[in-house]
Amino acid sequence: MHIDAHQHFWIYSHAEYGWIDDSMAALRRDFLPNHLQLELESHGFHGSVAVQARQTPEETRWLLELAESSKWILGVVGWVDLRSPDVRSQLKALTRSPKLVGVRHIVQSEPDDRFLLQPDFLRGISALEEFDLAYDILIYTKHLPVAAEFVQRFPRQRFVLDHLAKPPIKSGNIDFWEQGIRRLAEFPNLFCKLSGLVTEADWLQWEPEQIVPFLDVAFEAFGPDRLMIGSDWPVCLVAASYARWVEVVKTYLLGQQPESRDRVLGGNAQRFWRLTIP
Ligand SMILES: [Zn+2]
Repeated sequence: MHIDAHQHFWIYSHAEYGWIDDSMAALRRDFLPNHLQLELESHGFHGSVAVQARQTPEETRWLLELAESSKWILGVVGWVDLRSPDVRSQLKALTRSPKLVGVRHIVQSEPDDRFLLQPDFLRGISALEEFDLAYDILIYTKHLPVAAEFVQRFPRQRFVLDHLAKPPIKSGNIDFWEQGIRRLAEFPNLFCKLSGLVTEADWLQWEPEQIVPFLDVAFEAFGPDRLMIGSDWPVCLVAASYARWVEVVKTYLLGQQPESRDRVLGGNAQRFWRLTIP
């Protein structure tokens, strides 16, 4: 069972996707399940986990509807306002759909570098366990030390780090990132996605060799039981085809035990989010 642990859908509009600037013109169109299904099938994936891209409850409901009609969308990581005093009632309504498996907040874009530790936000996170929901940590490398303080507070909450915290692949200055990743990986309730890495490389001329040192650290720190492949489609398309990214990870995995390969390609995602396979 191979699972793409991180992808997005959207109906494009300039107003709602203002972060898609001219350099990302390839993303200025609709990306819907029928587009992704072809990529998944041609690369041996049986399903995917769809992740929020806008911070609205409407988008989460829409993703859950898509997951209802496409069985291969195995789970949805949605958004709720975790800082809201009525976060429990929002979660209660959304978890009527069994496809909601986690939530995410776009923490990387918050002006406060210590946003993860704001009391209102912490209160919201503390509600997730009751609803059996995981939390996706979307941050930049600079936030890694704060993320360790954050995860330390919730030893029973399931966390997954998105995109390896966006490492400095372009500059290759690995040290600060590596230190932060190794510290964070000490928490056994934290998994990590191998996704979003090509976007951190030079889009026009990256080579797999520039990414391999970061994968080496990820495998050393997390081991093969807590890593999961994700495409970050369609965002990956600014720097690579779906095929090329999958190829980078699969080539790297040739150096791992066969059972480790299957875990990274799907088993870990299934276990982490407790996905029901149709
Ligand atoms: Zn993404």
